[in-house]
Amino acid sequence: MTEKIRHFNYLLIGGGMAADQAAAGIRSIDRKGSLGIISADSDEPYARPALSKKLWVDSDFTENDTNFHTKEKNNANLFLKTQVTNISPAQHLVTTTDGTKFSYDKLLLATGSKALTLNGPESDLVVALRSKADYRKIRSFSSPHKHVIVVGNGYIGNEIAAGLIQNDVQVSLVISGEQLYDKKFPANLSKQYQDKYLAAGVKIYSRKRAQKYEVEDNHVKLFLNDGSILEGDGLILGLGAQPNLALSKNAHLKSDNLGVVVDKYLKTSANDIWAAGDIICYPDVILGRQNAGHVNHAIKSGYIAGQNMAGKIIPYDHTPYFYSWVFDVSWEALGTVSSNLEMYEEKLKHSDGKVVYYFEENILQGVLLWNAAINLDHFRNILKKKPHFTDLNALLPLEKAN
Ligand SMILES: Cc1cc2nc3c(=O)[nH]c(=O)nc-3n(C[C@H](O)[C@H](O)[C@H](O)COP(=O)(O)OP(=O)(O)OC[C@H]3O[C@@H](n4cnc5c(N)ncnc54)[C@H](O)[C@@H]3O)c2cc1C
Repeated sequence: MTEKIRHFNYLLIGGGMAADQAAAGIRSIDRKGSLGIISADSDEPYARPALSKKLWVDSDFTENDTNFHTKEKNNANLFLKTQVTNISPAQHLVTTTDGTKFSYDKLLLATGSKALTLNGPESDLVVALRSKADYRKIRSFSSPHKHVIVVGNGYIGNEIAAGLIQNDVQVSLVISGEQLYDKKFPANLSKQYQDKYLAAGVKIYSRKRAQKYEVEDNHVKLFLNDGSILEGDGLILGLGAQPNLALSKNAHLKSDNLGVVVDKYLKTSANDIWAAGDIICYPDVILGRQNAGHVNHAIKSGYIAGQNMAGKIIPYDHTPYFYSWVFDVSWEALGTVSSNLEMYEEKLKHSDGKVVYYFEENILQGVLLWNAAINLDHFRNILKKKPHFTDLNALLPLEKAN
């Protein structure tokens, strides 16, 4: 009996934010070609940022509101709970865990990232937040007055801690640094930010490292490096994420320590294979070769990769930004935003907003907008010119930030 292989003109691996936009990009050019999307996720493509933000603070916003309806909008075949295990670029063939084979004319790799975890047993009480299934687990162990331990000083840890405390959950937040976001923000902003958590009732354990956890009788024990143990009804790990590169490596696509190497058209080193989103290392027109684990990047790169798969030759020349919001603070960042750099701030005239400028050897590297609704293209244009501190200081009322 001959093996049955399903063929698609366009095949997308990954059912995340980049794949959703790639489908839209393809359909903006080609309404007819067959389109398949293979996703390891159990849910259709959805807005991931809502899992740690809007779903916790807006009672009118439900899980269904996060769905992109990618399949219906783009006349696509969506294969959920299906993991691709192998790509053969020479044969234009893809294999999944159950041995099913798919062939393609054009392929997109958009496998996103995997959340890092700690030493300990698998349990529904412990979540390294990445997916909707993870969100549901958190919901089930975090009803009011339960005690949830959150680890991590990145956006996932900080956002979910803020979301839970606003749902009357007791929250302990474990961070390795001195203060929240002290690796990104100047100390005064990091303190302002942290004060919001303290005022809301979050208990912060600073300068502590989580080493391992145990689960016993519906209870989690978290062991810290100073020998102390925290006990809670659930544990959420916000320890960062790593791009899922196993497939591209097995397929011998050119990659480096940042991700799958693509050219400015988001084409990989293999014929007829493009890549987008968290997994790529791309030539940013302002910042140079980058990896960007951000939603704005996933959306923009996904759409252009889709258009190029459908025959266009459009360069990806958008420098993406990263954003987050908690309580009444919303911030956006472009370029390198690190408190190791020299920081100067501009206070905005008609609001409590600020813009922080980050310099290395007196050259501008990044910009942070703190409660400041200003068109980011303005800052892209400034960053592009790589201004010297003295030039910018002559134009703006800059003060040393600390
Ligand atoms: C809780 C949370 C909050 C966030 N908030 C923000 C924010 O505020 N601002 C911001 O800029 N960014 C935020 N991000 C990051 C942003 O969501 C990601 O950068 C974006 O989702 C990346 O899109 P992607 O398509 O590359 O990957 P993903 O959206 O992660 O999608 C990857 C897809 O690939 C699938 N997959 C992986 N391997 C395989 C395989 N072998 N076979 C088949 N399918 C596979 C996965 O199941 C998934 O469907 C947040 C992320 C999370 C988890």
